[in-house]
Amino acid sequence: MMCDFSYHLPVHLEFGYGKVEKVGSFCIHYGKKVILVTSKGGSAKRNGYIEKLTASLYKEDISFILFDQVTANPLLSTVYAGAAIAKENKCDIVIALGGGSTIDCAKGIAFAVCNDGDLTDYIKGHIQVEKALPIIAIPTTCGTGSEGNTFAVLTDENTHNKKALCSSCLLPVVSIIDPQMMSSMPLSVFSAVAFDALCHHMESFLSSACQPFVEMQALYAIQLFRGNFFRAYVDTEDKNAWCAMSLISILGGMNIQMAGVTAPHGLEHPASGLRNIVHGRGLAALVPCIFEKSISAAPHRFADLAQALGGKNEHDCVPILKAFLARAGLTTTLSHEGIFPSDLEWMVKNALRISRSSLLLHPKVFSKEEVKEIYMECM
Ligand SMILES: [Zn+2]
Repeated sequence: MMCDFSYHLPVHLEFGYGKVEKVGSFCIHYGKKVILVTSKGGSAKRNGYIEKLTASLYKEDISFILFDQVTANPLLSTVYAGAAIAKENKCDIVIALGGGSTIDCAKGIAFAVCNDGDLTDYIKGHIQVEKALPIIAIPTTCGTGSEGNTFAVLTDENTHNKKALCSSCLLPVVSIIDPQMMSSMPLSVFSAVAFDALCHHMESFLSSACQPFVEMQALYAIQLFRGNFFRAYVDTEDKNAWCAMSLISILGGMNIQMAGVTAPHGLEHPASGLRNIVHGRGLAALVPCIFEKSISAAPHRFADLAQALGGKNEHDCVPILKAFLARAGLTTTLSHEGIFPSDLEWMVKNALRISRSSLLLHPKVFSKEEVKEIYMECM
C-alpha cells in the first residue's frame, strides 16, 4: 500500500466511569483559578454535575467562577463575554462542562483571554498564534468530539458564518470522558449527537485526506456504533454501550482533526449558522441525498462503509442509513428543521465560500448548481 501522511495529536484522555470526581487532581497541574463554562439551559446543575466537579476542585483548594451562558451553535459574543469575566477574575484555567457547543465556546474563551482583537481574523487564518489558557474538557454529550481536537466551531452572529477556529493551543490539556456524565441526555439529544459522531467517521473515511489511522478508527467506530447505539438508546444503565458511544465520539473528533469533514458538514454549517438548527438533525436531513449523489465517484469507499454499517455493497449504504434515521427518530427535512426556501440562495453562496475546504475533500466535488439541487431536494 502506497501512502504518505503525518499524524500528530497529543491528546491526554482520562476515560472511565467516575473519572470526573478526579478533576481537581488533574487541574492542579495547570492552575488555581478556574472559569467553569457550562450551558445556559442549566442541565449541568440540575443533574448534579457541577456539585460533583466542584467538590473535587475544593479538595485541591482550587477556586472557580461559573460562566453558564453558552447556547447551541455558540456565538462569538458569548466567547467575548466569557473572556472578559475570565480576565476580570484572573482565571488561569478553563474547564468546559457540557456538550460540543460548551466545549467549543470554552475553547474560544481560553483563546480570547490570551489574544486581543477580532476573533474572525484568527478564524480566517489571517493571524496565527498558539497561545491560550489551558483547557480541561468534560463532555456531557457524545457527538462533537471537540474534547479530542484543536477545533472550536463558532458562529459570527453578524454574518451567520459558522466556522472553526483552529489552533494547536485549543487541544485540551486533559479531556475527562466519564460515560456516567452522558446518561442524563434526553433521547432526542442523544440521537442527534450520536449521528453527528457517526458522520465524523463516515466523512473522515470518505475524505481525500483519509489515511491509515483515520481509516482504522473510522471502521472500528462505525462497527461499534452499529452494535451499541440502540443498546444505549434503550438502557441508560448499559455501561458497555455507553462506554462505546463515548469512545465513538472522541475517536470521531480525532478523525476529523486528521482528515477533515466533507460535504455533509460543509452543507450543514450554513443551515445551523443561519437558523440555529440542531447540527445532528441538519446532518440527518442532508446525508442520504448527498451520499446518493456521491456513490458513483467512490464506489469502493462506499462499499467499505456499507459493510461496516452491516450491508454488502455500495448501494446498501443509503438504505441502511435511512432505516437507522427512521428508527432513531431522525428522519427529517431542512424545512422541517426551520429553513425557508428563501434561505437557500444565501446557503449555497455561504457553503461555497465558508465550507469550501470541506467540499473539496468530498469524493465528488459538487458544482454550485449541484449544491443548490441538494438543498432543494432536502427541503
Ligand atoms: Zn459535527
